[in-house]
Amino acid sequence: MEQHYSEINACGVARGIMADWPRDFLYCPKCGGFPVSTREYVYTFHKLKCLTCDNGFEVISQFEREREKLVWGEYWSIEHRFRTNDIYDLLVLAYSETTRIIDLSFVPRVCLDFDSLGKNGVAAVIDLAAIPSQGKINLYRDGLTRDKSEVVDCYKRANFLFGDVKESKGWLMDVLYCAECLGKKEFALSELYKFVDYLKQRRPNNKNIEAKIRQQLQILRDKKYLEFTTRGNYRLLR
Ligand SMILES: [Zn+2]
Repeated sequence: MEQHYSEINACGVARGIMADWPRDFLYCPKCGGFPVSTREYVYTFHKLKCLTCDNGFEVISQFEREREKLVWGEYWSIEHRFRTNDIYDLLVLAYSETTRIIDLSFVPRVCLDFDSLGKNGVAAVIDLAAIPSQGKINLYRDGLTRDKSEVVDCYKRANFLFGDVKESKGWLMDVLYCAECLGKKEFALSELYKFVDYLKQRRPNNKNIEAKIRQQLQILRDKKYLEFTTRGNYRLLR
């Protein structure tokens, strides 16, 4: 039964790991609801639900952190879910061979964009490496648990940045990602234009990449994420 491929395994591993978690380890990044345990979650297949704010999560597990390409599910099924607005926040759980948790991150649903998904055979694939840090909220890594209030703040910020962006969400994520790759607080438009080939590869149907980049920078300015300093120069405010 090809249609079930990795989902059952991923789900089984996730359940196994989560059943062993300390009761106060997992909380809801939307409301910080606490305490939350697997018993207090409602399982529906591989989905969980916060009983405080009703927010839904979908657990996806991946083997080892190196695997940045995350298989989400069958492409046709994910496409249908986007069409019917049946998308939840993703809780991405990376585990090692000994089923130890290496990394636990949240990808808020507002950061999920169908046009940004890749395809591997029949599977829809998320390239985690191409998601900017605002769209990947780390809760736990290598034994270090992040402060809960920080996680809840990041979740709010992601919703502010991407929540009301409809058509160009993937573009906004891509431009943010490129700006992050520059690794500095101030940068020039010409530096972002160096990513044109990369963006062309990701969005082959778009002919005017430079105009799209400028448009996203305006959105980021309106959201007070960055400011325009002099002509063609920008400064990150966060
Ligand atoms: Zn909640």
